[in-house]
Amino acid sequence: MVLLEVKNLKTYYFTLKGMVKAVDNVSLSLEKGESLGIAGESGCGKSTLAYSLLNLVPPPGRIVGGKVIIDGIDITRMNEEELRTKIRWRRISMIFQGAMNALNPVYTVGYQLAEPLMYHKGMNRAEAVEVASKYLELVGLSPDTVNRYPHELSGGMKQRVVIAMALILNPDIVIADEPTTALDVVIQAQILNLLKKLQKELNLTIILITHDLSIISELSDKVAIMYAGKFVENGPLERVYNNPQHPYTQGLLRSIPRLRKKVKKLEWIPGVPPDLRAPPPGCRFHPRCKFVMDICKREEPPMVEIEPSHYVACWLYTKR
Ligand code: SF4
Repeated sequence: MVLLEVKNLKTYYFTLKGMVKAVDNVSLSLEKGESLGIAGESGCGKSTLAYSLLNLVPPPGRIVGGKVIIDGIDITRMNEEELRTKIRWRRISMIFQGAMNALNPVYTVGYQLAEPLMYHKGMNRAEAVEVASKYLELVGLSPDTVNRYPHELSGGMKQRVVIAMALILNPDIVIADEPTTALDVVIQAQILNLLKKLQKELNLTIILITHDLSIISELSDKVAIMYAGKFVENGPLERVYNNPQHPYTQGLLRSIPRLRKKVKKLEWIPGVPPDLRAPPPGCRFHPRCKFVMDICKREEPPMVEIEPSHYVACWLYTKR
């Protein structure tokens, strides 16, 4: 059963220097318990997409078109009060980037976890702290962490607290925005293992936002590659990783060092992502693409299915 459906979503920022099309016509769908990894370079619109899924885009940005449907309800049509009381953190929540700054330094961990339970579930303080300590155990921390302040915790422990906060109201969908940034590799592996375990135990639908394709390969069933505000390729993880078709996806995968595979030389993608106030016409990747054709500079390629559930937006395949 489809739990989350995004249809032709457009989120733009209206700045003094012009309109930035950060998310431009993005569609996706996810079933209960599925996980999707969204990858792309910095500034491609991944985080804006994540905020759009909560209908929480900060000004001067706003959703200007499309739908975000959670369990049959289009949340882009809801008012702020409905979103706060019925959707955010109850149906869909987010593990924010940068756990170091996501916690309030003047409140104990227990209070910060208990507050949403008191507000949303009407629990008294003692009941809420009791539930909070159970969630701390669930993410691998000692229950007495409820009495500690954020400055008493390591980076990995803070990230676990932030994960517990995202889960505390028992949402169906969790968005993890760069959940391992600024953590060392050992802690990164622990956090990824924790997310994997939680997804299985709680049957969570997880959307993982990252620039690191290797993290997606650890955690996701599906992957979407985003470039300049658009999906350029998406499909089941194994199909996209073993048979990448879009030149941008191919470039990203060739730039990852492999431990088990002999790679002669790592590749890189020349050039830089475009300015989203005035993206290139046609295919937005064309100034950096080694296969560019005339049509690529004029017309936007449609998304086509090149094998079951594997979609690519590139004229190379549309022509074929
Ligand atoms: Fe390259 Fe053209 Fe395909 Fe864009 S549409 S990725 S420019 S070949």
